[in-house]
Amino acid sequence: MLRIDLSDLPVASSETARHLNRRVILNLIRDKQPISRADLARLSGLQRSTVSLITEELIEGRWVVEGTTGRLPRGRRPTLLLLNQRRRIICIDIRPKRTFIAISDVNGVFSFQESIPTAADPDRAVRQLLARLRPLLKTRTEDPFEGIGISLPGRVDYTTQQLIFAPNLKWPAVDLKTPIERETGLEVALENAANACALAEIWFDRSNTIRNLVTITVSEGIGTAIVADGRLVRGANGMAGELGHFPLDPEGPQCACGNRGCWEILASDQAALRYYFESAARSSRQRAPELEFNALLSMADQGDTLAAKALDKMAVQLARGVRMIVAGLDPEAILFVGEFTAAWGRFEPRIKAEVQAQKIAALPIALIPARDGELTRLRGSVALVLYKHFGVSLPVSGTA
Ligand SMILES: [Zn+2]
Repeated sequence: MLRIDLSDLPVASSETARHLNRRVILNLIRDKQPISRADLARLSGLQRSTVSLITEELIEGRWVVEGTTGRLPRGRRPTLLLLNQRRRIICIDIRPKRTFIAISDVNGVFSFQESIPTAADPDRAVRQLLARLRPLLKTRTEDPFEGIGISLPGRVDYTTQQLIFAPNLKWPAVDLKTPIERETGLEVALENAANACALAEIWFDRSNTIRNLVTITVSEGIGTAIVADGRLVRGANGMAGELGHFPLDPEGPQCACGNRGCWEILASDQAALRYYFESAARSSRQRAPELEFNALLSMADQGDTLAAKALDKMAVQLARGVRMIVAGLDPEAILFVGEFTAAWGRFEPRIKAEVQAQKIAALPIALIPARDGELTRLRGSVALVLYKHFGVSLPVSGTA
C-alpha cells in the first residue's frame, strides 16, 4: 500500500478530503482489482455510502469500469470494479540518439511502440514528434487519451517547465511542454528519466512500501533519482540527483558537462565503448566504426576478451559510484535501469562487494535490476501522467 504523507497536505477542506478519498479508492482498485464496493469500504475504512459516491464518479469519469460478478457463499453477488483499460496514455522517452514513442493503458501495458531519430535541434525535434503524434491521436477516438508523459535525459525547471541541463542531448534550455500541449490539446508531464523510472517502480512494481529508494539509469550518461522518506528529492533548482556529474577522478577524461572525470564519463555505456576502443587500438585490432553498447554486450558473451574487460572496467567504476550513494543516502533499495542489466551477472558481484564494504548497518540493500530494461523509461512516462490521479505520497510538481 502507498502510505499517505499527511504532512504534504494543504489545510484540510472538504474538497481536499474528497480528493484524497478518491485517490485512496483509485489506488485500492488499481492494487486489488477486480474488487467489490464492500471490500473497498472495508479496506479503506470509508463509509459504504462514500465509497458508492466515489465509485460512481470514477465510472462516470471513465477511470473505472464494472466487470465480472463476484462469488459469495450466500446472498447477492457483488459487481466487481476494475481500472478502465481503454483509457490511454502517450509515452515519450527522448534520448540523445533516438526518441521512443508508445501508447500504454493505465496498467502500463503497451499497445504501440516505435522510435524515430532525435533531431539535434529541439524545435525540429518537436516538429518531428508532432508529425508522429497527429496520426496516433486519430486512432480509436472512442478511447480517450489521458495525457502525454515525456522522460528526458536532463533536468526540468519546475517553475518555468523548461528542460535545463541536458549535456548529452546538447539542447539549450527549451520549453517542450507549451508547443506540444497547444498542438495536441493534451496535458504534458515532463520529468528527468531517472525520476520517471523511480515513479514507475513505485507505481507498477513491488516498491510500494519502500520509503528510501535510489534509481540509477545508465545509458549515454548516468542519471539518478532519490526518493527519501517517501518523497522524490528535487533540490532548490530541480537539480538534485545529478550524481552522474560527481567528479570521481578530477584528472579523468572531459565530460559533456565541461568538468573532468565525472562518474558518467567513467561508468556509462559510452565509457565501456571507449575502454573497448582504447584497448582495441593498443592491440591494433581493426576498429568497428559504429559499435553500439548492445553489440559490446553480445561480443563479451561470445568470449571476446577485450569486450569483457571493457565491461569489467565499467562495472568497477559503476560500483564505486554506487558506494558513494550508499554512503550518502543509506537507501533500502537501488533500482538499476539500462541495457547493462541484461548482463547483470557481470555487474552485480562488483556492485554487491562495494555496497557490502560500505554498509555498516546490518540490513542488506536490495539491488534491483529493472525487469523490462528499455520499457522502464517508457513506463516512467506513464507514471508521470497517472501521478496526479493515483499519486499519494510522492509529490512531483515543484509546488506540491
Ligand atoms: Zn559531467
